[in-house]
Amino acid sequence: MNTPISDTFRQQLQAMRADVLAQLRAQRGGKIGRAEAAANARETESDDWAQADAERDLAFAMEERESAELVAIDEALQRVADGSYGLCVDCGDAIATARLHANPVALRCVACQDKAEQASGATKPAGY
Ligand SMILES: [Zn+2]
Repeated sequence: MNTPISDTFRQQLQAMRADVLAQLRAQRGGKIGRAEAAANARETESDDWAQADAERDLAFAMEERESAELVAIDEALQRVADGSYGLCVDCGDAIATARLHANPVALRCVACQDKAEQASGATKPAGY
């Protein structure tokens, strides 16, 4: 999917990624977070790590959620890069553009997503 539309989503994904990183940073009170450190591909050896241990415990659950989101965004960006973005991982059909606009990290078309959720008994995460 190397079309102008994948450019649109790439920009949207990069904006989401920046938002998640900003949230992580805010949770840290300005200190670099573990997820952000990973996202920055270990550009810096942070000496805030030990100092941040206590805060990390407090922020852990929230950060795990944000980190999962970050991973999903990075995977979506990877799919944009390799041309598989917007294709359902289960059936290979194109995911509806409206669905991608609502949830740019969507992996499946609506039909496959419904099947996957019924199979796992999972509920849709809030906001998706
Ligand atoms: Zn599908």
